[in-house]
Amino acid sequence: MTDHNAQEYIVIKAARENNLKNVSLWIPKRKTTIFTGVSGSGKSSIVFDTIAAESMRLLNENFSMFVRNFLPRYPRPDADEIENLSMAVIVDQKRLGGGSHSTMGTITDISPILRLLFSRVGQPSVGGAHMFSFNDPQGMCSECNGIGRRLGVDLSKAVDMSKSLNEGALMLPEYSVNSWEWNMIVQRGDFDFNKKLSEYSDEELDQLLYDKARKVKVDFAGKEMNITVEGVIEKFTNKYIKQDVKTKSERTQKAVAPFITEGTCPSCRGVRLSQASLSSRINGLNIAEMSSVEVGQLIRAIQEIDNPIAAPIVKSLSERLQHLVDIGLGYLTLDRETDTLSGGESQRVKIVKHLSGSLVDVTYIFDEPSIGLHPRDVHRLNNLLLKLREKGNTVIVVEHDPDVIKVADHIVDVGPYAGSRGGTIVYEGSYQGLLESDTLTGTHMRRSLQLKHDCRQPSGKLSIKDATLHNLRDVSVNIPTGVLTVVTGVAGSGKSTLINEVFLNQHPDAIVIDQSGIGVSTRSNPATYTGIMDEVRKAFASANKVNQSLFSFNSKGACENCQGLGVVYTNLSFLDSVKLPCDIYGGKRFKEEVLAYKLNGKSIAEVLEMTVEQAMDFFDQKKIVNKLRAMSDVGLNYLTLGQPLSTLSGGECQRIKLASELHKKGSIYVMDEPTTGLHMSDIGHLLEIMNRLVDAGNTVIVIEHNLDVIRQADWIIDLGPEGGNKGGQVVFEGMPSEIIDSEQSITGRFLRK
Ligand code: ADP
Ligand code: ADP
Ligand code: ZN
Repeated sequence: MTDHNAQEYIVIKAARENNLKNVSLWIPKRKTTIFTGVSGSGKSSIVFDTIAAESMRLLNENFSMFVRNFLPRYPRPDADEIENLSMAVIVDQKRLGGGSHSTMGTITDISPILRLLFSRVGQPSVGGAHMFSFNDPQGMCSECNGIGRRLGVDLSKAVDMSKSLNEGALMLPEYSVNSWEWNMIVQRGDFDFNKKLSEYSDEELDQLLYDKARKVKVDFAGKEMNITVEGVIEKFTNKYIKQDVKTKSERTQKAVAPFITEGTCPSCRGVRLSQASLSSRINGLNIAEMSSVEVGQLIRAIQEIDNPIAAPIVKSLSERLQHLVDIGLGYLTLDRETDTLSGGESQRVKIVKHLSGSLVDVTYIFDEPSIGLHPRDVHRLNNLLLKLREKGNTVIVVEHDPDVIKVADHIVDVGPYAGSRGGTIVYEGSYQGLLESDTLTGTHMRRSLQLKHDCRQPSGKLSIKDATLHNLRDVSVNIPTGVLTVVTGVAGSGKSTLINEVFLNQHPDAIVIDQSGIGVSTRSNPATYTGIMDEVRKAFASANKVNQSLFSFNSKGACENCQGLGVVYTNLSFLDSVKLPCDIYGGKRFKEEVLAYKLNGKSIAEVLEMTVEQAMDFFDQKKIVNKLRAMSDVGLNYLTLGQPLSTLSGGECQRIKLASELHKKGSIYVMDEPTTGLHMSDIGHLLEIMNRLVDAGNTVIVIEHNLDVIRQADWIIDLGPEGGNKGGQVVFEGMPSEIIDSEQSITGRFLRK
């Protein structure tokens, strides 16, 4: 490689993070390089733990000593040399948090431009652009402070319209018949106490329930008195909702809680903006209405604006909105709260944010950006990756999807296997070369699984009736039991809504195997999570005739600083967690006296460093071996028993959950894109496990885009036809051999190819 112009490459020499075996690489700058290989082979160790980590460290060196004191001390990644790095931006699948004030519009910087548009050409003109921001005191709805939701009284619980006041129509506490408050209403003499509330005129009802506080003279036991009267609901609101109910006694809180609901703010109807800003319109739409239209349609509405003053703003808005459509997010709305986006959607929103930015010569690092994308839309992602490269950036992608791998300028295949059997580069070069190589990736790129013809017969069915949520409109569908059902459809078609919300609501007993993190504390690791640790401690205790608690992470035997991990993870809210060696007890995890106890020659620390595979050779206790085998079955052979769960990827979390639930029978399993993080060669393994679950009498329901998994289903439910309000219907139900003939099904079309 010495004849290359070294400046044109990111050069890595002898990288040794995690399982890497002195990996040396030249990654072309301003090109797209895709890293592939089985899970656990070492892709992340190169891309994240070496390249991104060094870039972060260099970035930190630029800060003053003062600032650096507040930042983690990034250790230099374990490598002889890492040269020519540019600033790295990591675009991962971590969900976009941000609370209710963070929306698609704010996170993509589209909302400020929309506000500018309204301030320039909105009619009537209401002034400045901040009038249109719900994060600004001037623009926000004063009733709900820009949150869009407000606490209110549940009218159906507060009053019984079918009764008269004498019959107890008022059901709020303190208003029972003959109570003090009730008698105060009698004294006013304004109301007919024998008439049912449903027969009251609107005016009477308004007065009874919503009258503002005012002083009236009443005749009280022959004496004239001045008293304050106030509508029943109005009074309750002032007393328990406008004032913080938490300041009242616990008994009162309990008594009023059933009558309080959280609902859409009545003043702004949930759009969060002040009345003044909502009065301003463009082509008949106010800013809230524009924010609630799907992005794909919003573009058209924006382009209809025919006003020279607005032209530059219209252009810039359309460009950004088009980026969202281009990446397959045209079904989202600008007012969508970012914490409700899925991992894949979040990553794609982040891509759009960067496309609009003006940074050049940045190294962009992506972690499986195809997650959540239907094969139909993968080309959209490819275009965006190429656009980033064309702007003069270096694009590095960890990816398993053959359709993404196809567009790489350069491919690095890591392997040959996982963990200690991986950590080397098995292929480097062009796509064509990969197809001809005999690495696991090359071999699997050349073939795909066959359509399943011998589909199982269902044992029964679970019915969903008239599901109406998000974009679903009266969807009724049967999910067969005792078989493997795959739910598919383009992103935004309604798969998660149907399964994760509607179905799971009706079947809370289903076992959900998702990708959310499982690390409850830094002490959790595969051994503790699967229950192996309990057995290991017993084995150590009986071999050494000591108390088993000695070998526990929360005992006095373990290093308190690192909880027996040997390293300390520092979490910073805006940065990734950083791993630092623990220097108490020389990083030995446990105290000397504990390390002295051995089991077949190994200390507890050495056992925790074993991979699942090594541990299977080491242990012969049945309980331990069974649990290890379950992990090995889900493709986690390469994990070490003591690796903190917080360092596992979403896909690995999902598989470890699967491993610990494998033994159940007669259950419903729900999985959301279980192929995440899995190499093509691992997918066969996953299918075996799913089939084993079904054969043991379970019902398995999977949301998936992976064509190999869809081909192997017993039953397919395809949603669509498109995303958002053009989706939400069942376009196909049936067997794999039938979907390829379906005219409407986009999934069917891709299976035919
Ligand atoms: P890939 O990205 O190809 O799935 P990784 O680079 O994540 O693979 O992992 C390679 C090996 O390094 C695996 O055996 C994995 O368990 C191990 N490993 C990864 N991260 C850590 C960590 N933080 N601590 C210890 N071992 C790790
Ligand atoms: P899929 O799982 O097929 O990608 P989803 O069920 O996530 O589709 O989304 C279906 C539709 O419902 C989309 O238009 C999406 O924007 C909308 N949607 C999903 N979740 C929410 C939510 N929490 N709030 C509002 N709309 C949502
Ligand atoms: Zn409001």
